[in-house]
Amino acid sequence: MNRLPNIQSLPTEATKPVTITPDFAVGSSNVVLMAGPCSVESYAQARAAAEAVARVGGRVLRGGAFKPRTSPDSFQGLGEQGLEILRDVADEFGLLVITEALAVEHVPLVARYADIIQLGSRNMQHYPLLWAVGELQKPVLLKRGFMSTVEEWLKAAEHISSRGNHNIMLCERGIRTFETATRNTLDTNAIALARQLSPYPVIADPSHATGRADLVLSAARAALAAGADGLLVEFHPDPDHALSDGEQSLPLSALPHFVAEMGKITAVFNRSFT
Ligand code: PEP
Ligand code: MN
Repeated sequence: MNRLPNIQSLPTEATKPVTITPDFAVGSSNVVLMAGPCSVESYAQARAAAEAVARVGGRVLRGGAFKPRTSPDSFQGLGEQGLEILRDVADEFGLLVITEALAVEHVPLVARYADIIQLGSRNMQHYPLLWAVGELQKPVLLKRGFMSTVEEWLKAAEHISSRGNHNIMLCERGIRTFETATRNTLDTNAIALARQLSPYPVIADPSHATGRADLVLSAARAALAAGADGLLVEFHPDPDHALSDGEQSLPLSALPHFVAEMGKITAVFNRSFT
């Protein structure tokens, strides 16, 4: 018996696309780019990112305004000012916004500015937060906890859908393993498995999965080969001076090459990229 899947049908076999705007969905034959800085730091920084994303045909700008930082002494984000900046620069270039809601009380605020609400790895099992976004119809990107099993991740998504919001995207962002040479380990198994076991599109984050800018391109290729429906990637105009995650951020000047390389991978699966 031939047990090999038909790669032609890989993209949409089990996946139900999530509509972000009437003309833009995630989980279709188009694999989406969500790119931008780890944190919104200034108007000029975010605007430069938005311009670069738009120039390569990207539709979604990422950037954190409320940052979950390991140390309380690290930059915590600009808060509402960061959301305003993100919305402003995204609108100027016709982009959509994905940004994190860190706490239950931020959800209404973030929902006003964002097109997609990101829930962070550290919050994957923060059930009140899952319920809060579950009460909305706004698309949600649920990052996998870096110590969570695939089953726990999918159950967390059920907490969102149980409240009525089925506009869910999953995001594999690397898990903690015994390996310390990289920040995390990209679990490509989980990308393929989550796409089989759930109707939700699966996004991959090669930036947090590797923690090293020089590995992001390779990890991104692997994620798309495993069937990812999109990539959430950190790009910064000046990574050396980024206020967070500079070591894993690619310069904006690398975006055209990155997009071209991703296009080669998606073409193998009869998909497009951006
Ligand atoms: C992020 O994407 O900015 C982020 C904080 O990622 P994670 O929650 O995966 O650590
Ligand atoms: Mn980051």
